[in-house]
Amino acid sequence: MMDNRKHLRRLSRREMLAAAGGGALAAALAVKLVGHQRVATNEDSPAGTSPDLALQKLMDGNKRFVEEKRTYPDQNRVRLAEVAQGQHPFAIVLGCADSRVPAEILFDQGIGDIFDIRVAGNITDDVVLGSIEYAAEHLGVPLIVVLGHEGCGAVKAALEGKPVPGHIGSLLAAINPALAKAKGQAGDPLDNAVKANVKLVVEQLKSSQPILTELLKEGRLKIVGARYDLDSGKVETIA
Ligand SMILES: [Zn+2]
Repeated sequence: MMDNRKHLRRLSRREMLAAAGGGALAAALAVKLVGHQRVATNEDSPAGTSPDLALQKLMDGNKRFVEEKRTYPDQNRVRLAEVAQGQHPFAIVLGCADSRVPAEILFDQGIGDIFDIRVAGNITDDVVLGSIEYAAEHLGVPLIVVLGHEGCGAVKAALEGKPVPGHIGSLLAAINPALAKAKGQAGDPLDNAVKANVKLVVEQLKSSQPILTELLKEGRLKIVGARYDLDSGKVETIA
């Protein structure tokens, strides 16, 4: 792993700088030294990343994942030192809690890149909205991706409509409104429901007042829906 050795050498240079004092400055300089690993530095304000560029960055990472050409960005000690000073994620991903859909891996991103919210069925409620608003408004994250996936168990359970124990029913109640929209569509009923659920959540977020509607109006935020394919590993935008 030639690359890793290179990083270690660069890291030790950073450590020398740090030892000389001025930790934050040293960290900023060190980030410059690992150019190809860098996604954002402390100098890059979140506003410096446009919604479209943020989406492109995710899709490029997914392409690398699918083609088994991952670069594992932002996962070294330099990145740790950098993000310890503060976080500047470039995307919010509202994805399913399903163990097969981890955003950093399937988008080939690293630490401090994605503000993750994972909940079964990638649904939204006031608590989820609070997290999203914090990231969009306070951190200035320009992109929200609602990420559904093939074979989602939560959507499947809602589709089956059988009684469920405990608090699981609250998940299904949130998904139910999407089922009506998918009903009668040609094709696979579960996949149609997964897509309808993503689209519904995208609409819910787009109409969420006052923070998200305002950011959308100002062009500082984009909200897209996507579907992850368990077989191919590919993410495609659907809304
Ligand atoms: Zn799921």
